[in-house]
Amino acid sequence: MISRKHWSPGSDVSVQSVERRDSGGWTVSGSLTPNGICPDCGLQSRRRHGWRRRRLQDYPAHDDGVTVTLWVCRWRCLAPACPRRTFSDQIGSIARPFARRTSRVGEIVSHLGHATGGRPAERLLHRLGLGVSDDTVLRELKNRAQDTAEPPTVIGIDDWSWRKSQTYGTIIVDLERRAVIDVLEDRDVVTCTDWLKRHPEVEVISRDRCGLYAQAARQGAPQAEQVADRFHIVQNLRQAIEEQMNLHGRATGRALLSDADNITAEGSLLKSRLAHRTSREEIFTTIHALRNQGLTCSEIGRRTGFPRRSIAKWLQFETPPDRRRAALKPTSPWYFEEFLSQSWKGGIRTGSALFRLIRERGYEGSPTHLQRLLAGWRRAEKQAKGPALEHQILEPVRDPETGHAISPVIAAALCIKPRGKLTPDQARKVDALKAGSPAFATMRCLVMRFNGILRGREADPLPAWIDDAIETDLAPIVRFARTLNRDFDAVKNAIEMPWSNGQAEGQINRLKTLKRAMYGRAGPELLRARMLPLRHTD
Ligand SMILES: [Zn+2]
Repeated sequence: MISRKHWSPGSDVSVQSVERRDSGGWTVSGSLTPNGICPDCGLQSRRRHGWRRRRLQDYPAHDDGVTVTLWVCRWRCLAPACPRRTFSDQIGSIARPFARRTSRVGEIVSHLGHATGGRPAERLLHRLGLGVSDDTVLRELKNRAQDTAEPPTVIGIDDWSWRKSQTYGTIIVDLERRAVIDVLEDRDVVTCTDWLKRHPEVEVISRDRCGLYAQAARQGAPQAEQVADRFHIVQNLRQAIEEQMNLHGRATGRALLSDADNITAEGSLLKSRLAHRTSREEIFTTIHALRNQGLTCSEIGRRTGFPRRSIAKWLQFETPPDRRRAALKPTSPWYFEEFLSQSWKGGIRTGSALFRLIRERGYEGSPTHLQRLLAGWRRAEKQAKGPALEHQILEPVRDPETGHAISPVIAAALCIKPRGKLTPDQARKVDALKAGSPAFATMRCLVMRFNGILRGREADPLPAWIDDAIETDLAPIVRFARTLNRDFDAVKNAIEMPWSNGQAEGQINRLKTLKRAMYGRAGPELLRARMLPLRHTD
């Protein structure tokens, strides 16, 4: 009958009946054409052993589930050398051995699982008339995850965090086919080296500046060219600039301190402890005064530059907190600070003399401990007098329009931005920075040249650039140039080859989304199954 044919799940199944169950749903009964070929020895058997019934879930019909009941013949193998005694006919075209649903249903289940995850797939399938649990969805998904068939030649490798700054995994991307090849559970030289050894066809490895992957590539794939990631190179340059700009005093906390006490204005970061205590008192009264005006902790924090939490803590005290004094014992030279400072001012400067004096007054600590205290005082004095360190801690450059100090982060970001991309406001800041800080002007000039090299895809000017950067004598820039020099081949490749780790970064974003959406279930195996492209044919 034609209508029965339409119910058939496969070509070699003859359908006997289609019935509606009392409990709802359809049952399609059929039998498989017997063929009797032993899966072990391949000989055909004529000795029938019996019948076996397979029940398989199939595509739903008329909004209801369909169960296929299939009678499969069981045979006895007659070949004397064959270890197998009996076997069933294979129904490979319809379902895999031991499967509880037809292959076509399994494919839908794993597709939905791959796209949406366990629970959403379960709900959607249920709505479509396919009762499948979320565990089944995930199991089907894991069963079908596999490596890409074609061996990769250009790969990107990067790390991603299971838990930020605690545990990391590794992702490997095929940059040519724009697909994830593998997700490794950890970030480890040995694991990566092993992986690379298993893939000798890799010719190019794009990796970030992290030395770990460079080492793994050297050990596991010495045949491959390494490419440093352009984004990370520029990022490191930006950080170096920020570090240099940090030497201009920081804007935070300035408003609190009077000019006389102002640490940055004085040009010394290492003030004597006494002065520090006065300023603590000042901070304390300012915070309380602002509080009396009815301001919130956050507002006080914004005005003073102190963290909101410290302000809340300070507001709890009635007098300025003086942790050290309370905990001091005669073993500490700070216990005798007042006496020592008087003697210091009175001209007794040698450690041994002061040590004798305070020992008479009950000091139980060591001379070294005392020397450490005196060293701080000597440093503070030297800085107050001499301009030795003066030129390093500079006034912060201020925005001419608003008068606010330009923070090192902003300065670094502006420094690497080409003039064409600056807004009028940013251009004004860049000009102010150039005028106010010779270091900034030098760095801007270097950065623009570096951008030119990157854009020009030509690494020949790079050695000259590195030399010039080292000659600037700006410590962070020199450090950056030296790292470039150490990693020269990979940086050269980064400039001249079209590959970068941008794709890996994008895939990491996808991975993060999947990991969070599958909260609680996202183990290594499942993440891997969902990150790899799904096999479309069975
Ligand atoms: Zn056999």
